[in-house]
Amino acid sequence: MSETVAIQGHIDESGTFKSLKLKSGLSKELQLDFSQVKSISAGGLRLFQVWLAELGVEQLVLHRCSQGILDQLNSLKAISQLKARVASVELSLKCPHCSSGVDYLAQRGQDYLEGSVVHRESLDLPQEISCPGCGGQVPLESEVSSYFAFLKHRN
Ligand SMILES: [Zn+2]
Repeated sequence: MSETVAIQGHIDESGTFKSLKLKSGLSKELQLDFSQVKSISAGGLRLFQVWLAELGVEQLVLHRCSQGILDQLNSLKAISQLKARVASVELSLKCPHCSSGVDYLAQRGQDYLEGSVVHRESLDLPQEISCPGCGGQVPLESEVSSYFAFLKHRN
């Protein structure tokens, strides 16, 4: 797999993501770690698309998208516009028993898969996960399924 590049901050009209250090000899597939992205705006999305086209990126792969950023990507229909693949999603929940933070990294191909011409989209998260704080069960799929709305968009 090619190198994963971390992108940070806000994807907006200021276009600061353009200063991202990319190795020369970039392949047509760009792997981006999205865990530190705070927000994405409609104007930022347009600039981002132009930037990717200038780089010659044909396949964008996003890693560790947070719930907050997925919300914005969904409302902008950004995943289909960018023809991006979401490789993993960082889910953050709060334990209803002890209020500890509980994280789960959902992985494409294991927990979810976008729809294609040959198969429907699928979401197969665990129903519950164990809280590392108290060992209690924390509901997962029912709480987070809305973040996976992007799976329905077909390229
Ligand atoms: Zn707990």
